Amino acid sequence: MAERLQKVMAKAGVASRRKSEGIIQEGRVKVNGQVVTELGTKVKVSDEVMVDGLPINKEEPVYFLLYKPRRIISSASDEKKRKTVLDFFPDVEERIYPVGRLDYDTSGLILLTNDGELDNRLTHPKYEVDKTYVAKVEGIPTNDELKQLRLGVVIHGKKTSPAKTNVLETDKKKKKAVVQITIHEGKNHEVKNMFKAIGHPVEKLKRESYAFLNLRGLQPGDYRPLKKFEVDKLY
Ligand code: URA
Repeated sequence: MAERLQKVMAKAGVASRRKSEGIIQEGRVKVNGQVVTELGTKVKVSDEVMVDGLPINKEEPVYFLLYKPRRIISSASDEKKRKTVLDFFPDVEERIYPVGRLDYDTSGLILLTNDGELDNRLTHPKYEVDKTYVAKVEGIPTNDELKQLRLGVVIHGKKTSPAKTNVLETDKKKKKAVVQITIHEGKNHEVKNMFKAIGHPVEKLKRESYAFLNLRGLQPGDYRPLKKFEVDKLY
């Protein structure tokens, strides 16, 4: 099946479709050795596509949902040689990588794929993918403090977008609470920074859902391939 060149480039992780169009128009793309600047160009799997002189990745797209345990790095490699999310996939030959990040000490749902276009969509703030976390925090947040999270708090000079919150448990003796929080931004340490901003540091964090996907049926360290309808729904 022939597909538009910019779509093939986006899937290969070169850039978003829009940016790929720019790259084509700049004359940086060759199909079977010929420079192509026409945006409507369609290519087949058998065609050789090169960007800036390098062949693009033409693997079949694959998609996995992993229940990341705590104390695992979510980038593809680690200079300190700690275990990474890729170590859970020794038999997967495709060059998969994590969609977004979870902190080393955060557990929960993380997607891995080799589909650059889906990665781009899910991590771009304009698509506003909901992510729900369960945070065990120090102290018991008051309604006013939770309202601040719902309205947005200032972190590094920028206001966070409104979060949804739901207190699941409170322990008055130990002065701890468990709060479910849904955000759609993906800045580094966002949830921890948000709770810190209202005076309730996070002790433990787990991502329990990502868009409509959740961890049902999985234990830490387990993964499953996404079903076709799930991939279609994420797009
Ligand atoms: N927010 C955090 O603070 N940490 C994570 O791992 C994810 C979201």
